[in-house]
Amino acid sequence: MESALTARDRVGVQDFVLLENYNSEATFIENLRRRFRENLIYTYIGSVLVSVNPYKELEIYSKQQMERYRGVSFYEISPHIYAISDNTYRAMRTERRDQCILISGESGAGKTEASKKILLYFAVTCPTNNHMVTLGDRLLQSNPVLEAFGNAKTLRNDNSSRFGKYMDIQFDFKGATMGGHILNYLLEKSRVVHQNHGERNFHIFYQLLDGGDDDLLNTLNLERNPHSYRYLVKGSCARVSSISDKNNWRVVRKALDVIGFTAEEVQKLLNIIASVLHLGNTLFGEGEEGETYIITETQLSNLLGVDGSALKEALTHKKLTAKGEEMISPLNFEQAVSARDALAKAVYGRTFNWLVEKINQSLALKVQEQFKDASVIGLLDIYGFEVLQHNSFEQFCINYCNEKLQQLFIELTLRSEQEEYETEGIAWETVQYFDNKIICDLIEEKHKGIISILDEECLRPGETCDISFLEKLEDIVGGHPHFITHKLANGKTRRVMSREEFRLLHYAGEVNYNVNGFLDKNNDLLNRNLKEVMCQSENQILSHCFRREEVIDQKRPEMAASQFKNSLMKLMEILMSKEPSYVRCIKPNDTKQPGRFDEVLVRHQVKYLGLMENLRVRRAGFAYRRRFEAFLQRYKPLCPETWPNWNGKLADGVSALVNHLGYKPEEYKLGRSKIFIRFPKTLFATEDALEAK
Ligand code: ADP
Ligand code: MG
Repeated sequence: MESALTARDRVGVQDFVLLENYNSEATFIENLRRRFRENLIYTYIGSVLVSVNPYKELEIYSKQQMERYRGVSFYEISPHIYAISDNTYRAMRTERRDQCILISGESGAGKTEASKKILLYFAVTCPTNNHMVTLGDRLLQSNPVLEAFGNAKTLRNDNSSRFGKYMDIQFDFKGATMGGHILNYLLEKSRVVHQNHGERNFHIFYQLLDGGDDDLLNTLNLERNPHSYRYLVKGSCARVSSISDKNNWRVVRKALDVIGFTAEEVQKLLNIIASVLHLGNTLFGEGEEGETYIITETQLSNLLGVDGSALKEALTHKKLTAKGEEMISPLNFEQAVSARDALAKAVYGRTFNWLVEKINQSLALKVQEQFKDASVIGLLDIYGFEVLQHNSFEQFCINYCNEKLQQLFIELTLRSEQEEYETEGIAWETVQYFDNKIICDLIEEKHKGIISILDEECLRPGETCDISFLEKLEDIVGGHPHFITHKLANGKTRRVMSREEFRLLHYAGEVNYNVNGFLDKNNDLLNRNLKEVMCQSENQILSHCFRREEVIDQKRPEMAASQFKNSLMKLMEILMSKEPSYVRCIKPNDTKQPGRFDEVLVRHQVKYLGLMENLRVRRAGFAYRRRFEAFLQRYKPLCPETWPNWNGKLADGVSALVNHLGYKPEEYKLGRSKIFIRFPKTLFATEDALEAK
């Protein structure tokens, strides 16, 4: 049989560390392309899995395939997402150490599909005991629900996750799943009120309209046609041929039942979804004196469970406290529109958080199940580095997140390399790499980082605006080597910058951010009188989401970027305590086409994913390492002393073997349980000898 190593000319190497010229990006990409052409979408960089989205169904995910990967070591079998899943699971079981799998890549690269395959692998192959079956179901069913409320059709992906997700899967001492917990990050709330051309709002709205029966739509006072709702047609593509909203509605409806939502809770949830649509259709008129009034009559207040006239008042006026006295002042037309949109975003965003909370309750461990030696596998499916035509606050947060993950990656990879060298008793060799801490500091440092400056600008009394924020940045971080603006550059940059932009030199490349909207998005303000109305809602979901304390306690809630920063810090802590595996997803083309490999696009991603850096760190010392048993087992026919069997110490057997093969001292090292080979060509020569035999 042709081994994976000897077929390397045709299908490339299955592990990039085996590339002789590991510094060459062109060689790297050529290897990816060869494998992609052969439908080999998976390749390793050591223990990192690189995956290229095939945009077609491959016959590699069956139950039989799952069985093939069970208990099999990484290098004995072709790379696969199941190999990562299985290795992670086994490491957790045998080493009793919590694990995590970090999936990254740009939108449409296949992150969410990968995370679903991992979850399914555990659900199918892990042992279960009777009452756990339902837990496995709930874990799996949480996906369609979260996707309905948190995913949308975008230009890049028909089912794009618009939030980041970290999920813990907890296993009992027998290795059966026993619980789960989800953390969600930064839902893209702006999508509720606005979508770019060719994009949609969150799936759930269209699913409800297409799939809900007549009675249901009647009680929600909704029409079936999505074009009747302003919030649904901003992108002019309410219907998408590749998506069956009707079928998905059924799936979601059933999933809600499986997870354990009561009929009453579902009704309340749908009331909220409908109320968002009615909010979008709430129109304002302008009176003679510039005052604003509502000209549409809908069921809005009924659906929200709030007092109708109080809501009307709150949508057209704002409450101020000046010198201890409350004042009501009318909103002008624009202010009223933005108050309405802010309410829609707040209602939807907070309801999404409630949904995650509910799912977590359903996945939570029962107290008596909390065995001491339970272990955890975490799954992170989070937005990759994003560089768009126009980059705003959202991209800033997303890319900051990727800086943090890169920092963690470098730290943990170096740490685990170092640990392995130590346990094997081999001297550690220093690795040259770019430490991106300097960029993380630029963004997150207290008092003088970009986020702090943004917060301060939001809080500073008087006339502040996005441009004054930009000027503050120039004052405070203007001298930083990774920061530049139009003014500071003095026309000395290659790419033209506008006066509203600042540029960050990320580890993965330069990105220009337009400051327009930064203050508003960071403030994420909802008028106090709207909060007051909402916290009196009869809908328990809403009264849970809008707490009275928030209104009484006049302290300013944490701002968006700081909130994100703090949740990222917590995430880093969680991940630091675990042993990580990585899946790096690549999108081969922008047109969702099978078989097309767009080299320019792939090269960008190889860069943004830091794959070359990754390979360098992994290759710094030795290209290849393998346990003595495995090495002997494979190559023992090549040496009379080890063939057919070696009965002495494993290390001596390996020694005899490599001496016979003529390995030079600088080509390898023997550790306590593994042989380390420095160059791929040594290994290939040995492989070829085996093949020739
Ligand atoms: P991301 O989460 O990275 O934005 P998705 O996981 O949603 O991307 O993948 C986008 C689309 O690509 C999927 O809807 C699916 O059509 C296709 N896809 C992704 N991974 C695979 C795969 N392993 N096999 C077949 N199709 C895939
Ligand atoms: Mg996704």
